[in-house]
Amino acid sequence: MPRRPLPEQAELRFIEATRTGKVHLAIHLPAHHPEATPVMSLAPVVTRCGKFTFPVGGRHQTVGRFTDAQLCGACYRTLTEADQPRAFEHDQPTA
Ligand SMILES: [Zn+2]
Repeated sequence: MPRRPLPEQAELRFIEATRTGKVHLAIHLPAHHPEATPVMSLAPVVTRCGKFTFPVGGRHQTVGRFTDAQLCGACYRTLTEADQPRAFEHDQPTA
């Protein structure tokens, strides 16, 4: 995927694959955004690295607290330099 800036108003979502612990990045756009796709709660979310994640079945979960080492490198590399700091805007686990 070529790197391009995140659309304005886009939110970065962190999605953990529960089996591997790897945290992928997905973009969430507000429903009124011109690039937004219709949101269905059971629809798969496509991560930046091209994986489909499914909200049902417990294999993936949206997370807000994880270590930087869990971040998916492929997802991270799709971000522009200006957007890359946003991948680290998450809470760290307390040791
Ligand atoms: Zn990924």
